[in-house]
Amino acid sequence: MSVDLHCHSTVSDGVLTPDAIARRAYGCGVQVWALTDHDELSGQLLARDTAQALGMRYVSGVEISVTWAARTVHIVGLGIDIQDQNLLDGLQQTRSGRADRARRIGANLERLGMPGAFEGALPYAGNPELISRTHFARYLVEKGYCPDVQTVFDRYLSDDGPAHEPMRWAKLETAVSWIRSAGGIAVIAHPGRYHYTELEFGAFFDAFKDCGGLGIEVITGSHSTVQFSHYAQVARDYGFMASCGSDFHSPTESRHDLGSLPPLPDDLKPVWKSLI
Ligand code: AMP
Ligand code: MN
Ligand code: MN
Ligand code: MN
Repeated sequence: MSVDLHCHSTVSDGVLTPDAIARRAYGCGVQVWALTDHDELSGQLLARDTAQALGMRYVSGVEISVTWAARTVHIVGLGIDIQDQNLLDGLQQTRSGRADRARRIGANLERLGMPGAFEGALPYAGNPELISRTHFARYLVEKGYCPDVQTVFDRYLSDDGPAHEPMRWAKLETAVSWIRSAGGIAVIAHPGRYHYTELEFGAFFDAFKDCGGLGIEVITGSHSTVQFSHYAQVARDYGFMASCGSDFHSPTESRHDLGSLPPLPDDLKPVWKSLI
């Protein structure tokens, strides 16, 4: 079965609308699908209706920005009630600092010799409340400062980059509680991307489990094949369910298309078994 439980639409930092990405997922052979926009649920109805009309199983989703041990981590919520007021309020609160932060990123880029980036990035954000680093990256590519979005991150906007502005996002236990109270399953997104020490990783997985987190992405577009095996073992060691998703954002920027990744190892418990 082809399953993809992580991708983005124009509601956050993807380039396809929720219905267009549903059609693309279907065209790629995906049978069980979730749209997981950053900190926002407004694409869910259109994604679900389009997916179901095409005959795909739809799992509601969101990717919540969290700060743990001074670093940003992403927690995916799957199978959430998209009308849950507690979750909606929490996401609203999470989004609220983005506009000011975007101005600070713009100022940083100006100091680095790239003026006008805040005004330039805004039109790239379909939803101004959700203005993100990716929108800045697209603008800088448009202006010819870098050849592609990945280069912008590598030079300026990665978590340790010179134009990055750290945020204090939601606390881990708070984000997990929003997901749980909305009836969903909390899943650690792309663990291989976090720059924690081995000790910190252990503490992070323990903290996530202690507050009711149940799943981890093992197969994601962000992981190498070595990381597939490593996080499969983490899932076994901690008793986490396993998830998989491309983290698709754009046909031209994303390395992996929807539904294009290998299946989960057979012995792991797939997170979607309890969701469909
Ligand atoms: P933000 O929510 O504004 O902090 O932006 C986070 C988004 O930027 C992520 O969801 C990715 O789409 C993208 N991103 C973050 N770090 C990187 C990176 N090192 N390389 C490529 N894209 C990145
Ligand atoms: Mn993103
Ligand atoms: Mn992410
Ligand atoms: Mn993502």
